[in-house]
Amino acid sequence: MFADIILPLAVPTCYTYSVPDAMIHTIKVGMLVNVPLGKSRHYNGIVLKIHSECKVGINYKPIEKMVLPQPILTENQIHLWQWIAEYYMCKLGDVLKAAIPTALYNAEYKPQSEAWLRLATDEWSKLFGNRKPTDKQKTLLDRLSESNISMAEAQSLVSVAVISGLIKKGAVERYYVDKSRFSYSAPLTELHKLSDAQQIAYNSVSSFFAKDHKPVLLHGITSSGKTEIYVKLIDNVVKNGGQVLYLVPEIALTTQLTERLRAFFGDKMLVYHSKLNEQERAEVYKDILDGSKYSIVLGVRSAVFLPFKNLKLVVVDEQHDASYKQQEPAPRYNAVNCAIMLASMYKANTLLGSATPSIEGYYNAVSGKWHLVELNKRFKDIEPPETIVVDMRAERSKRKVTSMFSWILRDKIIEAVSAGEQVILFHNRRGYSSQVHCEACGWVPMCDSCSVSMTYHKGSNSLECHYCGKRLPMPQKCPVCGGEISAYGYGTEQVESVIHDFLPDARVLRLDLDTTKGKNSYKNILEKFARHEADILLGTQMVSKGLDFEGVSLVGIINADTLLDYPDFRSTEFSYQTLLQVSGRSGRAHKRGEVVFQSSHVEYPIVGQIITSDYKGFYKEQIEVRRLFSYPPFSRVIFISLKSRNINAVQGASKLLVSYLSEQLKGMVLGPEIPPISKIREYNIRRIMVKIPVANSVSAAKIAVIQAIERMNRKYSMVSTIIDVDPI
Ligand code: ADP
Ligand code: ZN
Ligand code: ZN
Repeated sequence: MFADIILPLAVPTCYTYSVPDAMIHTIKVGMLVNVPLGKSRHYNGIVLKIHSECKVGINYKPIEKMVLPQPILTENQIHLWQWIAEYYMCKLGDVLKAAIPTALYNAEYKPQSEAWLRLATDEWSKLFGNRKPTDKQKTLLDRLSESNISMAEAQSLVSVAVISGLIKKGAVERYYVDKSRFSYSAPLTELHKLSDAQQIAYNSVSSFFAKDHKPVLLHGITSSGKTEIYVKLIDNVVKNGGQVLYLVPEIALTTQLTERLRAFFGDKMLVYHSKLNEQERAEVYKDILDGSKYSIVLGVRSAVFLPFKNLKLVVVDEQHDASYKQQEPAPRYNAVNCAIMLASMYKANTLLGSATPSIEGYYNAVSGKWHLVELNKRFKDIEPPETIVVDMRAERSKRKVTSMFSWILRDKIIEAVSAGEQVILFHNRRGYSSQVHCEACGWVPMCDSCSVSMTYHKGSNSLECHYCGKRLPMPQKCPVCGGEISAYGYGTEQVESVIHDFLPDARVLRLDLDTTKGKNSYKNILEKFARHEADILLGTQMVSKGLDFEGVSLVGIINADTLLDYPDFRSTEFSYQTLLQVSGRSGRAHKRGEVVFQSSHVEYPIVGQIITSDYKGFYKEQIEVRRLFSYPPFSRVIFISLKSRNINAVQGASKLLVSYLSEQLKGMVLGPEIPPISKIREYNIRRIMVKIPVANSVSAAKIAVIQAIERMNRKYSMVSTIIDVDPI
């Protein structure tokens, strides 16, 4: 008997091992086993297939041992992994690394234990002879004759000294039990009653669910109460013993939603994201694998890899969000795609929600591949926020504005804060100044590993590369000519200091990569803001995503230009989504909110579409652009990036690769191009785009890509390639 094993290596195939006799009856597909590789190495790997095919003349090495007694991968997961490897053109080993928590893979997972106490003997009084137990001792002994208690509870009754005294005496025993890392208890609340509009939307989702398993797109404007609809659908599934996967694009969202969902579902829910430690991640995985009491997983993209048993519903919130796509490293998968695939394997239903669906998603919904349900009213009929567009060019020339705040935004912030309301300010650059230069010679600090200029961070008085994280102290004088250094362009750090200039007492919280490095930092910041212990939440994209604060009456978009100028075929869609989403944070609970939108490009049509929240107008225009240039959904795109420290090699290799690709894929190959950031961490980068019209076979094109790369690598073995299918 032989077994094909998935190893955590970027190798093209699985390796085959022989199954020792002792394991023949116990080995199963999905098990974690330890195998030798090469002369001295050993790896843990997963059994993909057990079979009897072997090639003559090959001496198969035996599997060394079974690392865990039960499989850690279900049949559906194996199918999902294989689908991902094929669709995203990566290795099963890459999927393994993304999917299995490290502690489980290394067999380092340990349940958390809790100390408990019990009576060592029923006849404890004999141990005291003539002397009687003290009152304190008696208290504990009496309690223990009712039932065993945890050490923690015992300590609330008597001191540790009393407890250890009784243990020493042999009257009481300590023992340990496994304790969940996720225990939770608090009273549950009733589900909210849906509004009429929500009920109608809910009914149509339900009837689509009953009809077939096509995904349903819920296009509901911000604050229409999509979450409440999800909750009701989840409740139905849970009551019938099914499992639910609830995906959100970012950890910041899990924080708020956890609170909200816990109130309804209590300890039936687990949360899965990157800020969990390795033991916690492994425990979630194991709990789901054991099919225990948990029925709901709220998680970010990697939650699609959990070993569900009885998955009945997948909810994907903020369906449009680019964070669902993993960029680095492989597998470069899109969790929305995977979730739909996963649901189809389990014959589960899928609900995709968004106020700003992706162009491809909306196209699927209107062309019949998915179903479409719309919800066009805010909860309580509060009107969508009123948007004031400020032309910053005019402001600067006419009204002599020197900071990033127009007079009107400044006044509105002061007004809102003085009225006890809250404000969200969005700016998608972190740091203090985005550009630093020498006034005399024009020197600009560049990262020596990447082709980008460095950003000034005032808090740490350093220059930082936002691509590789390299830091240097901020020089006092120009290192080239000794001239004065000046800084321009601003990030969130500077915005914060300007707010303090005009509102010294305002309580400002900053939410960006720099302030959220700690494990609970997101949670702390968002909870603080929710408790209204701050007036202003200032941040990058993180503040734009699905957050729900009832006290917010004003949203300020400090500089929309950084988004509107971004050069990419998806940029318009991305800007529209981000700006409309951040606007949607205003005026959610009590009264109509306001948005102040600052830009130097007020004439762009997209600005009008954002103000009027005209999604359909925006979609119509964008889908035509896509059709005209044959972009997705009218084609499939694969990006091939070539990387090398040697610039000549990368240039030669990319030209050669284009010529090989063009032989098979006539008219579908574009490039090579020099990307906007052409060097990262010492590696020079070139990019090739393969655009496959929907009428053509994608799998044939993928084979052609792999063959062309292999051919190119024969000449340029040191140039590495990265394949990105459906790039975002
Ligand atoms: P969306 O996800 O569509 O942006 P939410 O579900 O976050 O909207 O709803 C916005 C706010 O309105 C939330 O604070 C939510 O609790 C409240 N809300 C929405 N629907 C209801 C309802 N039926 N009953 C009570 N509160 C509701
Ligand atoms: Zn200089
Ligand atoms: Zn760098």
